[in-house]
Amino acid sequence: MDPVAFHVASRPAHGEGEGELTVHHPYDGRAVGRTTLATAGQVEAAVAAAAGVAAAVAALPAHARAAALDHVSRRLAERAEEFARLITAENGKPLKWARAEVGRAVSTFRWAAEEARRFSGELQRLDTDPAATGRIALVRRVPKGPVLGIAPFNFPLNLVAHKVAPAIAVGAPIIVKPAPATPLSALLLGELLAETDLPEGAFSVLPLPNERAAQLVADPRLPVVSFTGSGPVGAAIRRSVPEKHVTLELGGNAAAVICEDWNTAEDLTFAAHRVATFANYQAGQSCIAVQRVYVHEWLYDAFLPRLVAAVQELRVGDPSDPLTDVGPLISADAARRVEAWVDEAVTAGATIELGGRRDGATYPPTVLSGVPADAKVCAEEIFGPVLVVARVAHDQAAFAAVNDSAYGLQAGVFTHRLDTAFAAHRALEVGGVIVGDVPSYRADQMPYGGVKGSGVGREGVRSAMEDYTEPRVMVLTGL
Ligand code: NAD
Repeated sequence: MDPVAFHVASRPAHGEGEGELTVHHPYDGRAVGRTTLATAGQVEAAVAAAAGVAAAVAALPAHARAAALDHVSRRLAERAEEFARLITAENGKPLKWARAEVGRAVSTFRWAAEEARRFSGELQRLDTDPAATGRIALVRRVPKGPVLGIAPFNFPLNLVAHKVAPAIAVGAPIIVKPAPATPLSALLLGELLAETDLPEGAFSVLPLPNERAAQLVADPRLPVVSFTGSGPVGAAIRRSVPEKHVTLELGGNAAAVICEDWNTAEDLTFAAHRVATFANYQAGQSCIAVQRVYVHEWLYDAFLPRLVAAVQELRVGDPSDPLTDVGPLISADAARRVEAWVDEAVTAGATIELGGRRDGATYPPTVLSGVPADAKVCAEEIFGPVLVVARVAHDQAAFAAVNDSAYGLQAGVFTHRLDTAFAAHRALEVGGVIVGDVPSYRADQMPYGGVKGSGVGREGVRSAMEDYTEPRVMVLTGL
């Protein structure tokens, strides 16, 4: 792809940017795009515009908000291949996964349009108390005010969509700060938003270095901060603005459990393929990529060879090739960190069943067994294509092992039994339990988020809409 010049997709645009950011392809390091960084003046103008237009955006009728969202969804679908290639170029994820991400963003905007049409608050009867006979409460959801959305590099389009679409749906202006490594998809999305009839200031995309993002976080005119990224940064943001409404979507070390009843050859082969695929999709750089798999001890010896064979089938290489399954990590530094963690686990006694040899920014799909539970590859978020496989005595022991974590985003439970599914749902300290599949499943409308170190609050279109609004009650008397 030729270098493409993108400009700050802020409306209104104020003069030239402050310095340039060149975006490089993680696979081969070539420049794939440039953008200007927003100046302090542009940041101030974007915030002032968002605050100034908040009342007008909140007053937009549902049909106008839905029409803008439908427009973006349609245009994303029309330009899907262009977006997919841009995501691959800036993020390095294989084209097949980039195409999947664009498809999800299309549906995130479409779903938000549908929610915008039906999001209405509620009517509550109050006459359950004799003293309130004749009274009812009308509960309207009112936007809290302009939203600051801070996005990570690993889903540069759909995680921006998860901030922008619910904001438009409820009538809240939004300022997006994309990740410095991957600002281009967000800026191109900004161009589609600019085609709508949304008023000036309703959205801005501001590429900024991390240090300058703090200025936005601290600004009292942005009362809502929706952050997706790593734990330490999220925690620091929350501490810095205790008075604000802060949602944190953070990391995890997601686990899958192969239960005792998931025991036919067909079952095990299916689970092995799902685990192999979703431990390594996007080179493991997903907050719900499978990092740990706990296998009932009766099944372990039959499962492990199937797992290794399924991982071996994955094609590693140039992410622009539509047949590639696993591309590079976001940078050679990220791959070096993964390498160091694997080396450390091996020193602590782990066995490499497959993989383990870095090549630049590419780390091959790697399977480890015999890993001590406190090794970083198991206990912390690896964010790389590394899978820890462990034998457990019974299903309850597996659930305990899943919970023995500082994180709790999602878990996958391979079982056919309804009682085991319910037991897992009761026992597992996570935001979501996926039965019969890996933890990596996410539908964009469902509540999504974690407990413990994985975050605070929920995304998913409807959940984010609730997050961006607060109830305002009107009590009617004499009815
Ligand atoms: P990161 O924390 O390094 O950066 C996330 C965003 O925060 C970027 O836009 C970055 O520029 C910005 N940022 C960094 N320092 C900041 C500061 N001081 N003030 C304001 N903004 C600042 O995370 P990353 O490496 O881009 O993304 C990977 C992480 O995101 C992983 O931990 C992953 O698990 C997590 N993640 C979570 C979810 C989820 O929904 N739970 C989804 C995707 C990724």
